[in-house]
Amino acid sequence: MARRIVDVLVPLALDQPYSYAAGDIPVAPGDVVRVPLGTRECAGVVWGENTTPDPRLDNRIKAIAEKLDVPPLRDEMRKLVDWIAHYTLAPRGMVLRMALRMGEGLGPERERVGVRLAGAPPARMTPARARVLATLADRLVRAKSDAAKEAGVSPGVVDGLIDEGTLETVALPPEPVARAPDADFSRPDLSPEQAAAAAALRDAVAARTFATFLLDGVTGSGKTEVYFEGVAEAIRQRRQVLILMPEIALTAQSLDRFSARFGVRPAEWHSEISPRKRARIWQGVAEGEVRVVAGARSALFLPFADLGFVVVDEEHDPAYKQEDGVRYHARDMAVVRAHIEKFPIVLASATPSVETEVNARKGRYRRLSLPQRFGGQSLPHVEAIDLSREGPPRGRWIAPRLAEAVTVAIERKQQALLFLNRRGYAPLTLCRACGYRFACPQCDAWLVDHRFKRQLVCHHCGFSTPHPAVCPNCHAADSFVACGPGVERVEEEVGTLFPQARVMVMSSDLLTSVDKLREELTEIQEGRVDIVIGTQLVAKGHHFPRLNLVGIVDADLGLANGDPRAAERTFQLLSQVAGRAGREEGQGIGFLQTHQPEHPVMRALIAGDREAFYASEIDIRERLHYPPFGRLASLIVSASDRAAAETHARKLAAIAPRDERVRVLGPAEAPVSLLRGRHRFRLLIKAPRALDLSGYMRDWLAAAPKTTGDLKREIDIDPTSF
Ligand code: ADP
Ligand code: ZN
Repeated sequence: MARRIVDVLVPLALDQPYSYAAGDIPVAPGDVVRVPLGTRECAGVVWGENTTPDPRLDNRIKAIAEKLDVPPLRDEMRKLVDWIAHYTLAPRGMVLRMALRMGEGLGPERERVGVRLAGAPPARMTPARARVLATLADRLVRAKSDAAKEAGVSPGVVDGLIDEGTLETVALPPEPVARAPDADFSRPDLSPEQAAAAAALRDAVAARTFATFLLDGVTGSGKTEVYFEGVAEAIRQRRQVLILMPEIALTAQSLDRFSARFGVRPAEWHSEISPRKRARIWQGVAEGEVRVVAGARSALFLPFADLGFVVVDEEHDPAYKQEDGVRYHARDMAVVRAHIEKFPIVLASATPSVETEVNARKGRYRRLSLPQRFGGQSLPHVEAIDLSREGPPRGRWIAPRLAEAVTVAIERKQQALLFLNRRGYAPLTLCRACGYRFACPQCDAWLVDHRFKRQLVCHHCGFSTPHPAVCPNCHAADSFVACGPGVERVEEEVGTLFPQARVMVMSSDLLTSVDKLREELTEIQEGRVDIVIGTQLVAKGHHFPRLNLVGIVDADLGLANGDPRAAERTFQLLSQVAGRAGREEGQGIGFLQTHQPEHPVMRALIAGDREAFYASEIDIRERLHYPPFGRLASLIVSASDRAAAETHARKLAAIAPRDERVRVLGPAEAPVSLLRGRHRFRLLIKAPRALDLSGYMRDWLAAAPKTTGDLKREIDIDPTSF
């Protein structure tokens, strides 16, 4: 009988599967197996029957070691892995790795064992043993280690008592990872607009076909309540649901809102979930037991047994783009997944990305509009404070008019939010005596002064150093000047302007945990804070009932960096921040402190005219053939040696395949030209929409010289900053 050979893809930086002999193990495509690889063994997935003859001699083909007892990776999932690898040019194994990323190893979870009293007291009694017996006097403790911990003894003491028969272990059934949500637990009364949008989603979920919706609603319009109706329908149909959120939004109120609507919390999937829990959720999702997952972008790769609906909340959020390893955009790949698996997907935003907006305008996505806030509150009134005419005195950051408004808000027992998207105290520190500036030794970046931590920190690579006492260049003492503001510095000013106010600074570097963030958000919601000073951590999705005033300390901050997406980003972020104001009572007010009150972004924000912004931005993109009217890829070459990086980048440019539709720009120094000690050069590739840019890049790199030394090439299809 001919030996059966199958292709097994392993979760490593390899694009092609390897061939293995199945032996008498009955494997099918999708099965998760353990295979020998070099001197080790690793998990892999059977990708299919072997099709291409393996150059290695038959008898050198190794055998599959074992088939693992985990749910197989479904056809659709393997298709998705292939698709994403093909599109992003990431090795297939690396994409597979994300689909298998499930915590500590594969396989069923370790059996859980509890411990309880069983027999006579031990022959030899010690104080430690007595404590264990007292702890277990009348109950079962659900883990040996817990029993030891509670009794304050070492685990060996408990083991000793088990050996002597005084205690016994009991196998416990696994706890369910997530309880089943109830589609009708608490149904809200929807406004007519909400009801219409909800009906469209419900019908689409029931129809079980691919469709992409843009749920386009102003901040506070109740988008969540609307997409929950699509979720409810999927639950009724006994299908699974994925709600993608930017990581930060996951820690906030949204999970509570889910449980208010459906009676239970969804399973959570983000970077802080423990490996053990991950493994259980992964398995529960694959077996279909977990019905709803709320997760950050990586949840896109969960192996759902029967996914029926996906929500991408705040679809415009840049956090959906993964910038290292496999460079994928979770929103776009979620649409691909919906297409492959044939279910509807909804992208929700008050400020859609230009890509999505154009897709909606062209009818590729179906727009569901919620033009009003739920309950009829008006949107915040936005005004500019022209810093060149009515700015604060030098070295201060809060203009008199904004300070006045904060005073009034506090008097009215309302809250104010001062927003500045910069962590730390000051973005630049220089020596007054010699002009020396603190720069990162490994990056092309100034060190940011963090006073709370008493450190100078690089925001690119995390390098940090204690604030020195004397200038490292001229040795002058007390000669440092902080230039520009960060949130910590705004707090200092607030302290002098409003000494009585209760102030909270919210910035990711000051957070120790997700729980801490939850606590802080609750404090704000319950009105125990007068002034919140925050970075973009506070911009996302939160609902603060008493917040009526928002002051944007530096509205121009995001516009300065020369990125063609800067205007879009700034518009989205500032709309979102201003949208925090006046969500429940009274008219919210937003102040934009700016040097450019005439900038299209500022004008659109002040006039509350979103259309004006999209019209001008879409026009610019179209004229410049920027996405979504053209396609872009970036190719970054980096090395610790500057000349090596540059030479290689030039070589690549010289051998770019000729195609008159494609323009290769550069190489030029990358926007961050030195990062973590590596010099970076960038080529930008521009092509028309219809061109297969991934294919072009693949052909190009296939002909490229091998990278030697520590040279590295990074390809980014659809870069989000360019
Ligand atoms: P968005 O996400 O569009 O900014 P939310 O979904 O956060 O808006 O809704 C804003 C507020 O209005 C929330 O407090 C929400 O609970 C409330 N809300 C929205 N729709 C309804 C409804 N149909 N019934 C009761 N409350 C609603
Ligand atoms: Zn650095």
